[in-house]
Amino acid sequence: MKRRNFISKNLAMGALIPASCASFGFTDQKAKKTEASPAACDDVVVEKLSEEQPHKGKVLAVIQPHCDDIPFFAAGTVAKLIYEGYTGYLIRTSNDEAAGSGASTGERVLNNEKDNDAVAKVLGLKRSYDLGYANHRMDEYNIQEIKGRLIFLFRLLQVDTLVCFDPWGTYEENPDHYITARAVEAARWMAGMSTDYPEQLEVVKPHTVTAMYYFARGPQIVNRVVDISKFVDKKVESLIACKTQGAGGDNGVLLKKMLADKGQKLSVLGDDDDTANFNYVKEFVLDIDSDHLRGVPSDRKSGAKYGLEWAERFHYIGPSPSKTDKFIQENAVSI
Ligand SMILES: [Zn+2]
Repeated sequence: MKRRNFISKNLAMGALIPASCASFGFTDQKAKKTEASPAACDDVVVEKLSEEQPHKGKVLAVIQPHCDDIPFFAAGTVAKLIYEGYTGYLIRTSNDEAAGSGASTGERVLNNEKDNDAVAKVLGLKRSYDLGYANHRMDEYNIQEIKGRLIFLFRLLQVDTLVCFDPWGTYEENPDHYITARAVEAARWMAGMSTDYPEQLEVVKPHTVTAMYYFARGPQIVNRVVDISKFVDKKVESLIACKTQGAGGDNGVLLKKMLADKGQKLSVLGDDDDTANFNYVKEFVLDIDSDHLRGVPSDRKSGAKYGLEWAERFHYIGPSPSKTDKFIQENAVSI
């Protein structure tokens, strides 16, 4: 993904569309729209960390078209949800053949595959599934095929919650991103139907994914911010694991060397390579130069709006408990 052109061309971030939406979960609190956060929807839920393992026994699908998408936009939340008990699986839809360093296509595919596995390891995900569609060309495939494979995986793994690009995100230029997101949103509820791909039900059970954390690079209805303060270093590590493409990898070392060649240094980059890579990602990629390098606002500034050190922003859709059941419970009388 040619990050630099994309970022400079589409820097009009922050134009969020207000709407009313919020739902309560474990340690979630509602935050009223404040002067500091005019762009979020009326009620933003601030999802805080629970030390009670509330998600034990549940399954999380972490879905990315490219090996650096989750590290860029949602790795902190993924690490938090795994910490809270989920068993997580990584699903990558493209083969990253057009991305990053490597003389040949095969080399790039192999390098990115290694990085993708390294990202899964850093974030504590059980294993990764690669769907292998050609990078930058996912709009040439019949989306029904992609939906069919995702429906099977959601049933096989009995996925309860997923993290992925927002299918309704606007101004998204990369077809791999919006095709993956649309296939995921359709497949996640069809997986619960017994009428879609009924032959699969000979080996797997129907299962609906009921909670979705959708992230976007463009304007989006943000109704949830997740406190990732305890997991921001994991996010940094996942970005450093992307050696083949993206703003992480060894870019800190490259910057340090470039400055040294000019007889200069930045104290924030420290005196060794690991510190240079780590602090470059934490200070520049996630904060100071986030708009330019990632195309989204700083995670530090996103957190500050809600009194958090670091945060990630999402359009969250969660299970909506039936009010009829509740009414019957409270009002039904025996005859
Ligand atoms: Zn991507």
